[in-house]
Amino acid sequence: DAPLLSVKDVSIAYKVGALDIVAVSNARFDVPQGSIVGLVGESGCGKTTMARALTRVIADNARIKAGQMQFAGQDIVSLSEKDMNSLRWRDIAFIPQSAMNSLDPVYRVEYQIVEVLRDRGGLSKSAARKRAVELFEMVGIDPGRLRDFPHQFSGGMRQRAAIALALALEPKLVVADEPVTALDVIIQRQILDQLRSLQRELGLSVIMVTHDISVVAYICDRTVVMYAGKVVEDCDTATLLNEPLHPYTMGLKNAFPDLHSAGTGILTPIAGSPPDLANPPPGCRFAARCPFATDQCRVEEPMLTEDAPGHFVACHRAVEAAALREEAKQPGT
Ligand code: ATP
Repeated sequence: DAPLLSVKDVSIAYKVGALDIVAVSNARFDVPQGSIVGLVGESGCGKTTMARALTRVIADNARIKAGQMQFAGQDIVSLSEKDMNSLRWRDIAFIPQSAMNSLDPVYRVEYQIVEVLRDRGGLSKSAARKRAVELFEMVGIDPGRLRDFPHQFSGGMRQRAAIALALALEPKLVVADEPVTALDVIIQRQILDQLRSLQRELGLSVIMVTHDISVVAYICDRTVVMYAGKVVEDCDTATLLNEPLHPYTMGLKNAFPDLHSAGTGILTPIAGSPPDLANPPPGCRFAARCPFATDQCRVEEPMLTEDAPGHFVACHRAVEAAALREEAKQPGT
Protein backbone atom coordinates (compact mmCIF):
# COMPACT_ATOMS: atom_id res chain seq x y z
CA ASP A 1 0.00 0.00 0.00
CA ALA A 2 1.16 3.54 -0.74
CA PRO A 3 1.87 5.47 2.45
CA LEU A 4 -0.64 8.15 3.48
CA LEU A 5 2.18 10.61 3.94
CA SER A 6 5.63 10.61 2.45
CA VAL A 7 8.09 13.23 3.68
CA LYS A 8 11.00 13.61 1.30
CA ASP A 9 14.19 15.59 1.94
CA VAL A 10 12.41 18.34 3.84
CA SER A 11 14.49 21.21 5.23
CA ILE A 12 13.00 23.96 7.39
CA ALA A 13 14.91 27.00 8.62
CA TYR A 14 14.23 29.85 11.05
CA LYS A 15 15.68 33.22 10.19
CA VAL A 16 17.03 34.94 13.29
CA GLY A 17 18.82 38.16 12.37
CA ALA A 18 21.48 37.15 9.88
CA LEU A 19 21.42 33.53 11.05
CA ASP A 20 19.67 30.63 9.40
CA ILE A 21 18.79 28.03 12.02
CA VAL A 22 18.13 24.85 10.10
CA ALA A 23 15.79 23.08 12.51
CA VAL A 24 14.92 20.26 10.10
CA SER A 25 17.48 19.07 7.61
CA ASN A 26 16.71 16.65 4.73
CA ALA A 27 14.11 14.79 6.76
CA ARG A 28 12.53 11.79 5.16
CA PHE A 29 10.03 9.26 6.49
CA ASP A 30 6.72 7.67 5.59
CA VAL A 31 3.48 7.35 7.51
CA PRO A 32 1.68 4.18 6.43
CA GLN A 33 -2.12 4.17 6.23
CA GLY A 34 -3.77 3.44 9.56
CA SER A 35 -0.69 3.51 11.75
CA ILE A 36 0.74 5.53 14.62
CA VAL A 37 4.19 6.91 13.91
CA GLY A 38 6.29 8.40 16.70
CA LEU A 39 8.59 11.33 16.13
CA VAL A 40 11.13 11.29 18.97
CA GLY A 41 14.27 13.01 20.09
CA GLU A 42 15.47 15.31 22.83
CA SER A 43 14.43 18.94 23.16
CA GLY A 44 15.41 21.11 20.19
CA CYS A 45 15.89 18.29 17.67
CA GLY A 46 13.19 19.67 15.36
CA LYS A 47 10.20 17.46 16.16
CA THR A 48 7.70 20.26 16.65
CA THR A 49 8.99 22.17 13.63
CA MET A 50 8.56 19.06 11.48
CA ALA A 51 5.11 18.28 12.88
CA ARG A 52 3.80 21.82 12.50
CA ALA A 53 5.08 22.01 8.94
CA LEU A 54 2.63 19.23 8.08
CA THR A 55 -0.22 21.66 8.73
CA ARG A 56 1.84 24.54 7.34
CA VAL A 57 1.10 26.52 10.48
CA ILE A 58 4.65 27.61 11.21
CA ALA A 59 6.28 30.64 12.79
CA ASP A 60 6.56 33.83 10.73
CA ASN A 61 10.33 33.51 10.57
CA ALA A 62 10.19 29.85 9.47
CA ARG A 63 10.47 28.69 5.90
CA ILE A 64 10.22 25.27 4.28
CA LYS A 65 13.34 25.53 2.14
CA ALA A 66 13.29 22.24 0.31
CA GLY A 67 11.57 18.92 -0.08
CA GLN A 68 8.14 17.46 -0.50
CA MET A 69 5.42 16.16 1.77
CA GLN A 70 3.21 13.94 -0.34
CA PHE A 71 -0.14 13.53 1.35
CA ALA A 72 -2.87 11.53 -0.37
CA GLY A 73 -1.53 12.52 -3.78
CA GLN A 74 -0.86 16.20 -3.04
CA ASP A 75 2.36 17.94 -2.06
CA ILE A 76 1.75 19.91 1.14
CA VAL A 77 4.84 22.03 0.47
CA SER A 78 3.59 23.41 -2.82
CA LEU A 79 -0.17 23.64 -2.16
CA SER A 80 -1.74 27.09 -2.39
CA GLU A 81 -2.78 28.60 0.93
CA LYS A 82 -6.41 28.14 -0.09
CA ASP A 83 -6.00 24.43 -0.79
CA MET A 84 -3.95 24.00 2.36
CA ASN A 85 -6.69 25.66 4.35
CA SER A 86 -9.27 23.23 3.09
CA LEU A 87 -6.96 20.34 4.02
CA ARG A 88 -6.65 21.50 7.65
CA TRP A 89 -9.15 19.92 10.07
CA ARG A 90 -10.82 18.01 7.28
CA ASP A 91 -7.83 15.89 6.27
CA ILE A 92 -5.06 16.80 8.68
CA ALA A 93 -5.84 17.82 12.26
CA PHE A 94 -3.47 19.02 14.96
CA ILE A 95 -3.53 18.31 18.70
CA PRO A 96 -1.22 20.66 20.59
CA GLN A 97 0.65 19.89 23.81
CA SER A 98 -1.60 22.12 25.82
CA ALA A 99 -5.27 21.86 24.95
CA MET A 100 -5.53 25.50 25.97
CA ASN A 101 -3.89 26.21 22.63
CA SER A 102 -6.81 24.69 20.75
CA LEU A 103 -9.60 25.64 23.16
CA ASP A 104 -10.50 29.29 23.60
CA PRO A 105 -11.10 30.09 27.29
CA VAL A 106 -13.78 32.64 26.41
CA TYR A 107 -16.28 30.25 24.81
CA ARG A 108 -18.16 27.19 25.99
CA VAL A 109 -16.61 23.97 24.66
CA GLU A 110 -19.77 23.08 22.76
CA TYR A 111 -19.73 26.37 20.87
CA GLN A 112 -16.14 25.76 19.77
CA ILE A 113 -16.80 22.26 18.49
CA VAL A 114 -20.04 23.31 16.81
CA GLU A 115 -18.25 26.21 15.10
CA VAL A 116 -15.59 23.92 13.62
CA LEU A 117 -18.28 21.52 12.41
CA ARG A 118 -20.34 24.31 10.83
CA ASP A 119 -17.48 26.37 9.44
CA ARG A 120 -15.23 23.62 8.23
CA GLY A 121 -17.63 20.74 7.79
CA GLY A 122 -20.67 22.59 6.50
CA LEU A 123 -22.98 20.99 9.07
CA SER A 124 -26.23 22.63 10.15
CA LYS A 125 -26.42 23.89 13.72
CA SER A 126 -28.56 20.98 14.90
CA ALA A 127 -26.46 18.37 13.10
CA ALA A 128 -23.31 19.94 14.58
CA ARG A 129 -24.78 19.78 18.09
CA LYS A 130 -25.65 16.14 17.62
CA ARG A 131 -22.16 15.40 16.36
CA ALA A 132 -20.61 17.25 19.33
CA VAL A 133 -22.48 14.89 21.67
CA GLU A 134 -21.21 11.88 19.70
CA LEU A 135 -17.67 13.22 19.81
CA PHE A 136 -17.78 13.70 23.58
CA GLU A 137 -19.11 10.18 24.02
CA MET A 138 -16.33 8.93 21.77
CA VAL A 139 -13.58 10.46 23.91
CA GLY A 140 -15.27 9.47 27.18
CA ILE A 141 -16.60 12.79 28.48
CA ASP A 142 -20.17 13.14 29.70
CA PRO A 143 -21.89 15.18 26.95
CA GLY A 144 -23.57 17.11 29.77
CA ARG A 145 -20.21 18.85 30.15
CA LEU A 146 -20.38 20.34 26.66
CA ARG A 147 -21.90 23.47 28.18
CA ASP A 148 -18.81 24.00 30.37
CA PHE A 149 -16.04 26.49 29.75
CA PRO A 150 -12.56 24.97 29.23
CA HIS A 151 -11.37 26.10 32.68
CA GLN A 152 -14.08 23.96 34.28
CA PHE A 153 -12.38 20.86 32.85
CA SER A 154 -9.49 18.97 34.40
CA GLY A 155 -6.26 18.82 32.36
CA GLY A 156 -7.13 15.30 31.18
CA MET A 157 -10.63 16.34 30.11
CA ARG A 158 -9.27 19.33 28.23
CA GLN A 159 -6.89 17.07 26.37
CA ARG A 160 -9.77 14.69 25.54
CA ALA A 161 -11.80 17.66 24.32
CA ALA A 162 -8.88 18.71 22.11
CA ILE A 163 -8.84 15.17 20.69
CA ALA A 164 -12.62 15.37 20.10
CA LEU A 165 -12.10 18.65 18.29
CA ALA A 166 -9.31 17.19 16.16
CA LEU A 167 -11.48 14.20 15.24
CA ALA A 168 -14.56 16.33 14.52
CA LEU A 169 -14.32 16.12 10.73
CA GLU A 170 -12.87 12.61 10.56
CA PRO A 171 -9.41 13.58 9.33
CA LYS A 172 -7.13 11.03 7.71
CA LEU A 173 -4.09 12.20 9.64
CA VAL A 174 -3.85 13.51 13.19
CA VAL A 175 -0.63 15.25 14.19
CA ALA A 176 -0.31 15.23 17.97
CA ASP A 177 2.44 17.32 19.56
CA GLU A 178 3.27 15.87 22.99
CA PRO A 179 -0.47 15.42 23.65
CA VAL A 180 -0.04 13.82 27.08
CA THR A 181 3.21 15.30 28.34
CA ALA A 182 1.55 17.73 30.74
CA LEU A 183 -0.58 15.02 32.38
CA ASP A 184 0.10 12.53 35.15
CA VAL A 185 1.00 8.99 34.19
CA ILE A 186 -2.37 7.35 34.88
CA ILE A 187 -4.27 9.93 32.82
CA GLN A 188 -1.59 9.69 30.12
CA ARG A 189 -2.26 6.01 29.80
CA GLN A 190 -6.04 6.45 29.64
CA ILE A 191 -5.73 9.04 26.92
CA LEU A 192 -3.23 7.02 24.90
CA ASP A 193 -5.54 3.97 25.18
CA GLN A 194 -8.41 6.07 23.95
CA LEU A 195 -6.41 7.51 21.08
CA ARG A 196 -5.31 4.01 20.10
CA SER A 197 -8.83 2.62 20.07
CA LEU A 198 -10.20 5.61 18.13
CA GLN A 199 -7.33 5.31 15.69
CA ARG A 200 -8.22 1.64 15.07
CA GLU A 201 -11.94 2.29 14.90
CA LEU A 202 -11.65 5.19 12.48
CA GLY A 203 -8.66 3.87 10.52
CA LEU A 204 -6.71 7.07 11.16
CA SER A 205 -3.02 7.65 10.87
CA VAL A 206 -1.37 9.51 13.73
CA ILE A 207 1.97 11.26 14.09
CA MET A 208 2.87 11.36 17.76
CA VAL A 209 5.56 13.87 18.69
CA THR A 210 7.17 12.97 22.00
CA HIS A 211 10.44 13.06 23.89
CA ASP A 212 9.27 10.13 25.98
CA ILE A 213 10.42 6.73 24.78
CA SER A 214 7.84 5.03 27.03
CA VAL A 215 5.03 6.77 25.10
CA VAL A 216 6.59 5.46 21.90
CA ALA A 217 6.86 1.95 23.33
CA TYR A 218 3.25 2.08 24.47
CA ILE A 219 1.50 3.32 21.37
CA CYS A 220 3.61 3.75 18.23
CA ASP A 221 3.75 1.22 15.40
CA ARG A 222 6.75 2.86 13.80
CA THR A 223 9.18 5.39 15.20
CA VAL A 224 11.29 8.08 13.58
CA VAL A 225 14.22 9.27 15.70
CA MET A 226 15.49 12.79 15.10
CA TYR A 227 18.78 14.26 16.23
CA ALA A 228 19.85 17.87 15.60
CA GLY A 229 17.35 18.30 12.77
CA LYS A 230 18.16 14.99 11.06
CA VAL A 231 16.31 11.71 10.90
CA VAL A 232 18.86 9.24 12.28
CA GLU A 233 16.76 6.08 12.54
CA ASP A 234 13.32 4.97 11.33
CA CYS A 235 11.81 1.53 11.77
CA ASP A 236 9.01 -0.41 13.45
CA THR A 237 8.91 0.26 17.18
CA ALA A 238 9.67 -3.27 18.37
CA THR A 239 12.87 -3.29 16.31
CA LEU A 240 13.76 0.20 17.48
CA LEU A 241 13.47 -0.83 21.11
CA ASN A 242 15.08 -4.25 20.84
CA GLU A 243 17.60 -3.88 18.04
CA PRO A 244 18.39 -0.19 17.56
CA LEU A 245 21.21 0.49 15.13
CA HIS A 246 21.99 4.12 15.85
CA PRO A 247 24.08 4.87 18.95
CA TYR A 248 21.81 7.85 19.67
CA THR A 249 18.73 5.60 19.73
CA MET A 250 20.53 3.25 22.11
CA GLY A 251 21.20 6.23 24.34
CA LEU A 252 17.62 7.48 24.15
CA LYS A 253 16.50 4.17 25.52
CA ASN A 254 18.79 4.82 28.44
CA ALA A 255 20.52 1.65 27.41
CA PHE A 256 23.69 2.94 25.95
CA PRO A 257 26.51 0.41 26.23
CA ASP A 258 29.27 2.38 27.91
CA LEU A 259 32.57 1.49 26.29
CA HIS A 260 34.30 1.22 29.65
CA SER A 261 31.77 -1.20 30.98
CA ALA A 262 31.16 -3.12 27.75
CA GLY A 263 30.39 -6.71 28.47
CA THR A 264 29.47 -6.08 32.10
CA GLY A 265 25.87 -5.27 31.20
CA ILE A 266 26.10 -1.85 32.84
CA LEU A 267 24.22 0.63 30.72
CA THR A 268 24.56 4.40 30.92
CA PRO A 269 22.84 7.28 29.16
CA ILE A 270 24.63 9.62 26.74
CA ALA A 271 26.41 12.69 28.08
CA GLY A 272 26.68 16.01 26.26
CA SER A 273 24.32 18.18 24.27
CA PRO A 274 23.34 18.61 20.60
CA PRO A 275 25.29 20.97 18.28
CA ASP A 276 24.38 24.54 17.39
CA LEU A 277 21.91 24.36 14.50
CA ALA A 278 23.05 27.72 13.14
CA ASN A 279 26.49 26.25 12.66
CA PRO A 280 26.35 22.45 12.63
CA PRO A 281 29.62 20.49 12.50
CA PRO A 282 30.64 18.63 9.35
CA GLY A 283 30.18 14.88 9.29
CA CYS A 284 27.80 13.17 11.69
CA ARG A 285 26.08 15.59 14.06
CA PHE A 286 26.18 13.04 16.84
CA ALA A 287 29.92 12.34 16.51
CA ALA A 288 30.97 14.55 19.44
CA ARG A 289 28.81 12.48 21.82
CA CYS A 290 29.31 9.09 20.25
CA PRO A 291 31.86 6.63 21.66
CA PHE A 292 31.94 4.82 18.31
CA ALA A 293 32.92 7.89 16.30
CA THR A 294 35.95 7.65 14.02
CA ASP A 295 37.66 10.25 11.83
CA GLN A 296 35.28 9.31 9.02
CA CYS A 297 32.31 10.26 11.24
CA ARG A 298 33.79 13.70 11.91
CA VAL A 299 34.15 14.55 8.21
CA GLU A 300 31.69 12.50 6.19
CA GLU A 301 28.00 12.87 6.77
CA PRO A 302 26.23 9.51 7.06
CA MET A 303 23.23 9.18 4.75
CA LEU A 304 19.95 7.60 5.82
CA THR A 305 20.03 4.13 4.25
CA GLU A 306 17.77 1.10 4.42
CA ASP A 307 19.87 -1.33 6.40
CA ALA A 308 17.26 -4.07 6.52
CA PRO A 309 13.79 -4.00 4.93
CA GLY A 310 11.93 -1.08 6.53
CA HIS A 311 14.83 -0.22 8.87
CA PHE A 312 16.53 3.07 8.01
CA VAL A 313 19.62 4.35 9.79
CA ALA A 314 22.16 7.12 9.25
CA CYS A 315 25.36 5.91 10.90
CA HIS A 316 28.80 4.84 9.63
CA ARG A 317 29.27 2.64 12.68
CA ALA A 318 25.89 0.96 12.93
CA VAL A 319 27.32 -2.54 12.59
CA GLU A 320 29.89 -2.05 15.37
CA ALA A 321 27.33 -0.36 17.64
CA ALA A 322 24.88 -3.22 17.11
CA ALA A 323 27.57 -5.80 17.90
CA LEU A 324 28.39 -4.08 21.18
CA ARG A 325 24.71 -3.76 21.98
CA GLU A 326 24.33 -7.52 21.64
CA GLU A 327 27.47 -8.13 23.69
CA ALA A 328 26.15 -5.93 26.49
CA LYS A 329 23.00 -8.06 26.61
CA GLN A 330 24.99 -11.18 27.53
CA PRO A 331 25.46 -11.30 31.29
CA GLY A 332 28.92 -12.26 32.47
CA THR A 333 30.65 -12.22 29.11
P1 ATP B 1 10.95 20.78 22.09
O1 ATP B 1 10.56 19.42 22.53
O2 ATP B 1 11.80 21.51 23.07
O3 ATP B 1 9.82 21.61 21.53
P2 ATP B 1 11.66 20.09 19.40
O4 ATP B 1 12.43 18.86 19.13
O5 ATP B 1 10.21 20.05 19.14
O6 ATP B 1 11.95 20.56 20.87
P3 ATP B 1 11.71 22.48 17.81
O7 ATP B 1 10.78 23.16 18.73
O8 ATP B 1 11.23 22.04 16.49
O9 ATP B 1 12.36 21.22 18.54
O10 ATP B 1 13.00 23.40 17.63
C1 ATP B 1 14.07 23.07 16.77
C2 ATP B 1 15.07 24.19 16.78
O11 ATP B 1 14.51 25.36 16.18
C3 ATP B 1 15.55 24.61 18.15
O12 ATP B 1 16.93 24.88 18.09
C4 ATP B 1 14.76 25.86 18.43
O13 ATP B 1 15.48 26.72 19.28
C5 ATP B 1 14.61 26.47 17.05
N1 ATP B 1 13.38 27.27 16.93
C6 ATP B 1 12.11 26.87 17.17
N2 ATP B 1 11.22 27.86 16.93
C7 ATP B 1 11.95 28.93 16.54
C8 ATP B 1 11.64 30.27 16.15
N3 ATP B 1 10.37 30.70 16.08
N4 ATP B 1 12.66 31.09 15.82
C9 ATP B 1 13.94 30.64 15.86
N5 ATP B 1 14.30 29.41 16.21
C10 ATP B 1 13.32 28.55 16.55
